[in-house]
Amino acid sequence: MGLQQIVLTTLIFASLGFFGYSVYRIYRLIRLGKPSYDPIDDWGWRIKSVLKDFFGQMSVVREPSGWGHFFIFWGFLVLGLATVEMFARGYNPHFQWGQILSHSIEAFLKTTFDLLGFSVMVAIVIAMIRGFIIRPERLSKLRGSAHGKFDAALILGMILTLMVSMFFTHGYIIKTEGELAGFTPVSNIFASFVTGSSDGTLPFRYHVAWWIHNLIILTFLAYIPHSKHVHLLGSLPNILLRRNPKDRKRGVLKKIDFEQVDFEAEGVSLGVGKIQDFTWPQLLDLYACTECGRCQQNCPAYQSGKELNPAMLIHDLKSYLNEVGPYLAAGKEPPNGKQLVGDVISEDIIWACTTCLGCVESCPVFIEHVDDLQDMRRYLVMDQAKVSPEVTKTLENMENIGNPWGLPHQNRLKWCEGLNVPMMSQKKEAEYLYWVGCAAALDTKNQNVARALVKILQTAGVDFAILGLEEKCTGDSARRLGQEFLFQNMAQGNIETLKKYKFKKILTTCPHCFNTIGNEYKQLGGDFEVVHHSEFISELIASGKIKPSKNLDKKVTYHDACYLGRHNGIYDAPRAVVNSVASGDVVEMQRTREKALCCGAGGGIMWMDEEPDKRVNLVRFGDVEASGAEVAATACPFCNIMLDDARKMKGKEDEVLVKDIAELVAEGL
Ligand code: SF4
Ligand code: SF4
Repeated sequence: MGLQQIVLTTLIFASLGFFGYSVYRIYRLIRLGKPSYDPIDDWGWRIKSVLKDFFGQMSVVREPSGWGHFFIFWGFLVLGLATVEMFARGYNPHFQWGQILSHSIEAFLKTTFDLLGFSVMVAIVIAMIRGFIIRPERLSKLRGSAHGKFDAALILGMILTLMVSMFFTHGYIIKTEGELAGFTPVSNIFASFVTGSSDGTLPFRYHVAWWIHNLIILTFLAYIPHSKHVHLLGSLPNILLRRNPKDRKRGVLKKIDFEQVDFEAEGVSLGVGKIQDFTWPQLLDLYACTECGRCQQNCPAYQSGKELNPAMLIHDLKSYLNEVGPYLAAGKEPPNGKQLVGDVISEDIIWACTTCLGCVESCPVFIEHVDDLQDMRRYLVMDQAKVSPEVTKTLENMENIGNPWGLPHQNRLKWCEGLNVPMMSQKKEAEYLYWVGCAAALDTKNQNVARALVKILQTAGVDFAILGLEEKCTGDSARRLGQEFLFQNMAQGNIETLKKYKFKKILTTCPHCFNTIGNEYKQLGGDFEVVHHSEFISELIASGKIKPSKNLDKKVTYHDACYLGRHNGIYDAPRAVVNSVASGDVVEMQRTREKALCCGAGGGIMWMDEEPDKRVNLVRFGDVEASGAEVAATACPFCNIMLDDARKMKGKEDEVLVKDIAELVAEGL
């Protein structure tokens, strides 16, 4: 073996060894987490997801900027074969695939290397222009630090140099050994810049390009686990092992089995107070982040100027795990004493999340930010009793009176006085149990929605009844505010009440009630079929059971409620309802459907004081104004309140109306 082979072999083993050690280190850090909450089964679904979202890059190209990533990703995969050829030439200086493969396969490979290599070069140049010159807002935080900029520049620079050095080596090969097999226009262009050797010996400059190429590959391999490109290692397992919606729908929170918690055991906490309290899939999430910033762009908390930035949340959790994890894995106390909750992730960050799923929806590698934040919120509330006075009051109201407003329980029936609404306690049986919800029962603006729905039901001759004073808050806000114990108590009470009666479906105007009863009560033994009034009314109209007139002659836009849209995939039904009554223009806001901005009420934020200049509802109302709509149609009582408040705060009462779709329909009956 010559000197070149000895040096090359040593470097290959050193790089592979360091890479292997680094991967093992990350594996040990991830294993610090608790067991997965969700089952890891249904491998057919998992493999399909990897084929579609990892190899097919489908979740990445949902955004146009993802196409650059698509080409770099595939370029890298395929050019791995070109790299093998490059290394092989270190042992056999004139090696080409044609020596072991048929000529046609070699021609195909060479053409592919050429065109893909060029695509990668173009994609890298575009990424550099985008990252360093255009600098989109969504990359500002992640790449804003000196380290972030250096990391991005180093990686992009290395990939570009890899491609250029590959084309130069091809150029020298063409000039020295003759044309490459296949169609290689880019290599031919590079060949026109270089001179070969007439005696068939590869010139010195070829060796320079060849060494540059191989040294970069080996450096890249060693650097990946320590750079932002660690997602190359983390994203595939993260997609493969992620939560299956058939086990737990997106947005459905984990149930704490209090009977299984050993409160006497050392180090036991409710929620997540230490990094090792997260489950291992939550820790794996951290290494999958591509730092694309899409979650930041879609986060209402960030967009309204709050401290929470979901991209930085994942970034900071990863940095912290990298910092303290090695000590924890070795059974030692980390030296700096930095606490996860408070020092690394501030309480303001934890309390800013509206649980809108804007981040989760936009994440190309299926990171679950909401679970992380909710787990830390549970720790603050249940373990540390660190709760603001207004949250304490809300939780007390729910526990003692059965509604978060703290209004007298008897008020629940005021909205339906004189409407002749049947009660379940008398009827015992009905096709639909109309779950009114606290907002529609108690909030004056939303009482109109309940009355409108009753008018629709009575016009359509629907057999329905309500629980009346037997109905209590679903507990959604308690759960989102981190008080899982109270949620479970309230949910169990409601499940018992519901089980007393016979009905086919529960009907509700509130997406939060819809989500909690339909998706979360199952965790506690309450399996009910729930229908949201948007779908219900849309079907009544489609079947001709009600025929509202098209008397809405104002320009109207529909605001997607997070718990209806992103949480439950209902986007079309409310729009169909709006279209059926609108005689004027129906317009979409710029941020709409899956990308709609939250109104700011979810996650219990409804009950908290927001700083006046950081209110999410004002940002969202800005979207309504930008659409030019005179009516903002809603399908959620909380959106209804939040947008109405924003309208008043901005002094736009005379210009924009905020109305639920049920009201719009009832007005036309
Ligand atoms: S759920 Fe919504 S508010 Fe919470 S971090 Fe994600 S995007 Fe931001
Ligand atoms: S968490 Fe997901 S969306 Fe956010 S920066 Fe990372 S990869 Fe992008």
